[in-house]
Amino acid sequence: MADAARAATGTTRVERSLLEVRAVTLQYKTKDHLVTATYRVGFDVHRSDRFVLLGPSGCGKSTLLKAVGGYLKPVEGEIRLKGEAVTRPGPDRMMVFQEFDQLLPWRTVKENVMFPLQASGRLPRAGAEEKALDYIAKVNLSAFADSFPHMLSGGMKQRVAIARGMAMEPDILLMDEPFAALDALTRRKMQDELLALWEGTRFTVLFVTHSIPEAIKIGSRILLLSPHPGQVKAEIDGLSPGASANAVAALEQRIHSTLFSDSVEEAVAERPGVRA
Ligand code: ADP
Ligand code: MG
Repeated sequence: MADAARAATGTTRVERSLLEVRAVTLQYKTKDHLVTATYRVGFDVHRSDRFVLLGPSGCGKSTLLKAVGGYLKPVEGEIRLKGEAVTRPGPDRMMVFQEFDQLLPWRTVKENVMFPLQASGRLPRAGAEEKALDYIAKVNLSAFADSFPHMLSGGMKQRVAIARGMAMEPDILLMDEPFAALDALTRRKMQDELLALWEGTRFTVLFVTHSIPEAIKIGSRILLLSPHPGQVKAEIDGLSPGASANAVAALEQRIHSTLFSDSVEEAVAERPGVRA
C-alpha cells in the first residue's frame, strides 16, 4: 500500500524496510542450460544503508542487482521497494556500472547528467541543467561540465556516472563494482569520495563488490554470498568510519573465514534439490 493510501485508511504505519528481498531465486535459461545464479537469497535494505553484496565472481551479485533494478524476474521469491513489488525498471532505482563506457560519448558531462532527468520527464531543460550542475559539483567535476567523456580519465567518468545516478535522487542507488576497473590509488580515492558524498546526503546505496577490503570500507552492512549459485552465508554489520586497523583486520579475517566455510545460513540450508 502506498504511504498516502495507508494514511487515508488510517492504518497504523508499520516501519518497513525500503527494499525487501525475500527468498529470491534467479535463473538464466540459455538454449541448452538452466543456470541458477542465486538460490533463495534474502535481505533487507533500510534507508541510508550502505548495503554491500560481497561474494566471489560468478556468485550472482550482478544478477541480484539486475533483479532489484527490475531487469530480471525472480523464478521464486519476491522483491519489494517501499512495499511495492518490483516488476520493471524505474527512476527510483538508478544503476552505476563498472564499465567506463556507460556515458553517451557524443554528449558532454553536463548533458549526460541531464539526460535521464529530462528523458524521464522529471524536470524541464532549465531545471535539469541546474540539478545536473549541482551534482557535478558534488563529485568535483565542475571544471569539466562541458567536456566530452573521451577527454576524461576512468575515475572521472565514474564520477559522472555517479552524479548522473544521484541527480535522479532515486530511492536507492545500485552500484555494480563501480571502482573495480580503476587503478588501486584511484579506487581508494573514489571510495573516500563516495563516503564523503554519503555523509552529505545519506543516500541509500546497494553496492556490489568481490573485494573484502572494499566491502569493509564502504559497507554499513555486508551480505556474504556463497559461490555459485549465490546463497546467503551471513549478514554482518560494518565498522564505523574511525575503526582501528586492528578492528579492520579482525573483520577481514572473520569475513574471510565465513566466505570460505562450507556452511550457509540456516534458513536457506535446507534446500529441496534445486541446484544449477
Ligand atoms: P557476479 O556478478 O557475482 O560475478 P553474475 O551475476 O554475473 O555473477 O553471474 C552469476 C551466474 O550467472 C554465473 O554463473 C554466470 O555465468 C551466469 N550468468 C550471468 N549472466 C548470464 C546470462 N546472460 N546468461 C546465462 N548465464 C548468465
Ligand atoms: Mg558481476
